[in-house]
Amino acid sequence: MNRRNRSIFYVLLLLTVASYLLQVGASPMTWVLLVLQFAVYPQVAYFVALHADDQRKAEHRNQLLDGFWAGCWMAGLGFPLWIAFAMFAGACLHMVVFYGLRGLPMVLAAMGLGAGLVALAGSGRALHFDTDLRTTALSMLSLTLFFVTYALDGYRRAMYQHASEMKLRAQVKEIEALQAQLYQQTMCDPLTGLLNRRHLEKALPSAVDLARAQGRPLALLVVDIDHFKHVNDEHGHAVGDEVLQALALLMKDVAVGQDDLVYRYGGEEFVLVLPGRDADAARNTAEQLRLAFVGKPIRRGDGWIGATLSCGIAEFPTHGLHARELLRSADAALYRAKANGRNRTETSSAALAEFGRHV
Ligand code: GH3
Ligand code: MG
Ligand code: MG
Repeated sequence: MNRRNRSIFYVLLLLTVASYLLQVGASPMTWVLLVLQFAVYPQVAYFVALHADDQRKAEHRNQLLDGFWAGCWMAGLGFPLWIAFAMFAGACLHMVVFYGLRGLPMVLAAMGLGAGLVALAGSGRALHFDTDLRTTALSMLSLTLFFVTYALDGYRRAMYQHASEMKLRAQVKEIEALQAQLYQQTMCDPLTGLLNRRHLEKALPSAVDLARAQGRPLALLVVDIDHFKHVNDEHGHAVGDEVLQALALLMKDVAVGQDDLVYRYGGEEFVLVLPGRDADAARNTAEQLRLAFVGKPIRRGDGWIGATLSCGIAEFPTHGLHARELLRSADAALYRAKANGRNRTETSSAALAEFGRHV
């Protein structure tokens, strides 16, 4: 980019200064210097920067050199105002674009040094501010084109940045979607689509805390399919899966509360968390579920596959003050339901004592 901008500006300056040299009449040596400076130097500067170990540093030196040469030419030509203005503004812009405001004193010093050395050597023309119309117009054109080139670079950079931002935003959205998908995968059971045990272990303590804070009860209902192993053994694993899916649907049907949570706890064991409900309300739900499950066998060939459910209930705060205790109490109630002949619902209190004796 610097090579292009420097080359363009220097060619324009070559024309401008040549016009001025024609106006004032110059020695052949000055014409040679003109060509060396404005046609050859930009390419040498590029070549040097390109092959430098530290290209950025080399280009920084080039920019200071640009300022230095501008100072030399301004003084050498006797400070014709329009040409000096074009060189001065060009050198300042070029430096500030790359180094911010701290670039300004650097380039001013470089220009001052160039002009001072030429003045000291006495090789400059006497002060001569005026330029003819052609030179003035060329000076204006040079500077305008130089500004336009830089503005174009700025525009392209802004466009590029905008496109990058858009791309980044799209990527962030994609990552968020993937994160949500991952969360779904880690917290859900793929067979039934219900939440899994990992989710329960995170959510139940919070649900209990909330119930405690609100002074409301919370019921826990643990459900287990009776003799499920037989279903698998007799009809195959795939049919067993269908039974699990059918139960999952029924569980969702009976979980009518806004904050009710339905889980596949593992294997053929399911859990319902019923915030705001006590053990009696949970028993009603359990009975509704149990009867619905018995009443909805799965059709297989000519026959029907039916199974029954055993349910255990525990209630916060009566049967446990914390998530773990509640789960243990509900499990104990389920154990009691199994022990009492299956296909039934038991509530914790009595079951706890029973469980205690067994362990
Ligand atoms: P109980 O009445 O005492 O609960 O007897 P059960 O046969 O239901 O209990 P048991 O723990 O002996 O057997 C559970 C069975 O559930 C064994 C296992 O193969 C089956 N099972 C667990 N997960 C799945 C599953 O994802 N799909 C299928 N088809 N079967 C499963
Ligand atoms: Mg079972
Ligand atoms: Mg089981």
